[in-house]
Amino acid sequence: MKCINCGKEINTLLINMFNYDGTDRFYSYPITECEGAIVIETDKNWTGYELSDEERIETIVCPNCKKFPLKSKAILESEILELVMFKTEEEL
Ligand SMILES: [Zn+2]
Repeated sequence: MKCINCGKEINTLLINMFNYDGTDRFYSYPITECEGAIVIETDKNWTGYELSDEERIETIVCPNCKKFPLKSKAILESEILELVMFKTEEEL
């Protein structure tokens, strides 16, 4: 994708994440482009998880210019529910 602010072609974004000790810092995440959208797989340690759209854009920035890289500030989040089932010994 191309960052709207600096014009650079980027394939990662910096996402602000909580560390285990409650501090936070930006980590690099690969982006997937999908039908005109940018998708990032992250988790609930994302500091923007319970913030408004305006606050969230400060937690997702271009690695080059450190600004939100898109014109639209809308962010959709989906919860991925993974089901794990177990085989018994005879099924292995
Ligand atoms: Zn940029």
